[in-house]
Amino acid sequence: PTERRILIAGNWKMNGLRQSKTELRGIAAGMDGIGADLLVCPPFTLLAAFASDVAGTRLMIGGQDCHPAESGAHTGDVSAEMLKDAGAVAVILGHSERRADHHEGDAVVKAKVKAAWRGGLLPIVCVGETLDERDAGEAPAVVTRQVRQSIPDAATAANLVIAYEPIWAIGTGRTPTVDDVAQIHGTIRHVLAERFGAEAGGIRILYGGSVKPDNAAILLATADVDGALVGGASLKAADFLAIARAA
Ligand code: PEP
Repeated sequence: PTERRILIAGNWKMNGLRQSKTELRGIAAGMDGIGADLLVCPPFTLLAAFASDVAGTRLMIGGQDCHPAESGAHTGDVSAEMLKDAGAVAVILGHSERRADHHEGDAVVKAKVKAAWRGGLLPIVCVGETLDERDAGEAPAVVTRQVRQSIPDAATAANLVIAYEPIWAIGTGRTPTVDDVAQIHGTIRHVLAERFGAEAGGIRILYGGSVKPDNAAILLATADVDGALVGGASLKAADFLAIARAA
């Protein structure tokens, strides 16, 4: 079977001030013995400071979004090149909060993935169904459509990470059953294999949605789960490290 390194990514969302570097340093200092890759995605304002803070450690820093263009008249936006320049190595794209709050559809997400590659970043592309779609039995179809439409043709095992995040599980304390997670991750792997052949076996698929220290071990042991995208529990070094240790 293809070797896929476990990735535990923290999405800080719109949380964190300069004083939050205490938590960041706690994570970096607690990584001994953790085999997984660890990534923290703070708000843009903290990126450069965090990147210099973790220099020389194994902790990686990423952004939470980028604009498709390299530069130009896009007030308030940030490009992949700017994230890279600030010290980011990865970027979360198509998070459900971006899709909802900023009306991002699959075509925009696809353009942002290409921008991430252009800028030298690893994109982490989020997909996932709403509760209505889940209840209607449409979760596999929704996720299949999102993966087909938001991933460009040049995807490889080395340049793409996907995160399955059922929207109803984000920040709610609810998680799908292990069987449901395995089903969707298997669906994603299948959709990737149809398009990218053997390369699909190396593409990491993270699970996200209310991952906590007490459910991390079982979720991370599920078939085709290659790591986690963690929101709330990534804000505390002890919780984030406990999740990483469960991998
Ligand atoms: C997220 O929004 O990426 C997420 C997984 O959040 P939480 O862990 O808080 O549910």
